[in-house]
Amino acid sequence: MPDAGESRGRELVDLLAREHSLTPEQYEELVRSFSPALAAYAAELATAARREVYGDDVFIRGLIEVSSYCRNDCLYCGLRRSNRSAKRYRLSPEAILACCERGYELGFRTFVLQGGEDPALTDAAVCDVVSAIKSARPDCAVTLSLGERSHESYQALFDAGADRYLLRHETADPAHYARLHPAELTLERRLSCLRDLREIGYQVGCGFMVGSPGQTPASLARDLRLVEELRPEMCGIGPFVPHHATPFAEEAAGSVALTCYLLSLLRLLDPRLLLPATTALATLDPRGCERGMLAGANVVMPNLSPMAAREKYELYDNKAHAGSEAAEGLAELRRRMELVGCRVVVDRGDARRR
Ligand code: SAH
Ligand code: SF4
Repeated sequence: MPDAGESRGRELVDLLAREHSLTPEQYEELVRSFSPALAAYAAELATAARREVYGDDVFIRGLIEVSSYCRNDCLYCGLRRSNRSAKRYRLSPEAILACCERGYELGFRTFVLQGGEDPALTDAAVCDVVSAIKSARPDCAVTLSLGERSHESYQALFDAGADRYLLRHETADPAHYARLHPAELTLERRLSCLRDLREIGYQVGCGFMVGSPGQTPASLARDLRLVEELRPEMCGIGPFVPHHATPFAEEAAGSVALTCYLLSLLRLLDPRLLLPATTALATLDPRGCERGMLAGANVVMPNLSPMAAREKYELYDNKAHAGSEAAEGLAELRRRMELVGCRVVVDRGDARRR
């Protein structure tokens, strides 16, 4: 028999599943009510909701880490400009195209070009690569994840053929945002970028880390509210993982179980969301990918970068980039997904429209 606290939690989960909306106070209560039993209940409803929209399909995206240079100084990230020991590299357009070709042969139909905010990634440079990929493989989607840029720049990249843009909001609480970033980076600006992307016509992804220093149930409740208000196509969440050469080196990593619970809540909040089981999840738990799917996720982003880049693109310590987290490990990923009742498909994997 569930106790009183858990019964109340179940009521809120049921309400979210039915209404796809809660008040900030209710979200906070739901986050505070986290327990393994309530998470199991939420996961059951979440996987049923996912099945109704996407069946058992898992969409894969080939992640190409295009540059480890970054002009920003986010306190949590190993690529921050103040990290003098970070190894910097930038892929040539030819190298990026070669990754896409290899990925295409393996069955990828979406390529995610992600990188630090590298000043060398000018509009002209990125537009050239995007249009080259789109003309070589018109049946593929291109996702960009290159940080904050101007409206004009986002427009140019969209016009060159980019379909989607991933820009995690990191935290929807302005004070928490200020704890994670230097003063020149603000939540206001981050959100204005997300609005620009949406307005231009991108399929948009926001997202946040779970367990980042200073995070509270109230700030997580604000993250959930933001997803409800913004209605993105995607939401990328993963546990915070410390990096040894950042100010947060000594902080504890985020919780895998809490991340999975939040995946379930996001699935109930919007059954059509594209929800990746992220690399950070797989980094902290060898079964992170499976656990993500069992919580309601439906996307995996195996690493398609050249080997030398994978090690240098060190957002956090011990980043997983082998086995199922690697494009070469697709056969293993397929097997592992089948064991949890899911099926990796060859598909662009667009969000189902409302
Ligand atoms: N520069 C771009 C994209 C690369 S960073 C940007 O910042 O948007 C991609 C994501 O990695 C970030 O949004 C952040 O949420 C995540 N990340 C960075 N450092 C991390 C850490 N230490 N632990 C977990 N995730 C981290
Ligand atoms: Fe740069 Fe992105 Fe890392 Fe911030 S999170 S330092 S913008 S790579």
